[in-house]
Amino acid sequence: MSKIRVTIWNEFRHEKTNDVVRSIYPEGLHAEIGKALLECGDIEVTLAALDDPDQGLPDEVLNSTDVLFWWGHMAHGEVSDELVEKIRQRVYNGMGLVVLHSGHYSKVFKSVVGTTGNLLWGDNLHEIMWNINPTHPIAAGIPSHFHIDCEEVYAEPFQIPDPDEQVFQSWYETGYVFRSGCVWKRGAGKVFYFQPGHETVPTYHNPYVRRILQNAAHYCKPAETGFNYLYAGNSPYIKSYFAPEDEIEELKK
Ligand code: ZN
Repeated sequence: MSKIRVTIWNEFRHEKTNDVVRSIYPEGLHAEIGKALLECGDIEVTLAALDDPDQGLPDEVLNSTDVLFWWGHMAHGEVSDELVEKIRQRVYNGMGLVVLHSGHYSKVFKSVVGTTGNLLWGDNLHEIMWNINPTHPIAAGIPSHFHIDCEEVYAEPFQIPDPDEQVFQSWYETGYVFRSGCVWKRGAGKVFYFQPGHETVPTYHNPYVRRILQNAAHYCKPAETGFNYLYAGNSPYIKSYFAPEDEIEELKK
């Protein structure tokens, strides 16, 4: 069984300029997420950052990625439109996409799901994440709810298309609620948005958060299809028709 090829893309700017962020994630948020995924044993990880050549995603990397994780915040506008379109086409053709935290406002997320990604937000507070879809593969091993002592408040209304599947719902101590774990299908690809992960708190060290990221990598990997069909590109012309005479004759018996 070949390993799932996960590329973790991080804007990787806060870690270079903010001592608090650097103390929590000395090698970058993406490196810590990578360590969580490597605990699985069946995942291989590539780290990518905005300031790397080709904004971290040259074609040879993007085209050999099964699941792309995306963390961005302060530099969404610097990501090239050409790269965003390449990522969208890859998702249509089956690549998984896991968008984290402030990635709700990334060009990639907005382009792939098709809405503004707007939400309400506020200072860090205690969050309880409710597992509202416990038989969903992304919820595997997650209890009915768990606590994140301190996380940035993201609140409804969250301007997203109605999710195909909602896995988590969050509550904050001031009463606000948020759809914090949502899945959409786009073409052949699966997209998971997951809310926790503000850069000044140690959320990616939380064992339940790490398990959810591991589950998401497995759930969003490309489906194994029985024939080679590309979702993106021109609609193909049918050159010859299938004539199931033998099967029909069999049914008549
Ligand atoms: Zn944040």
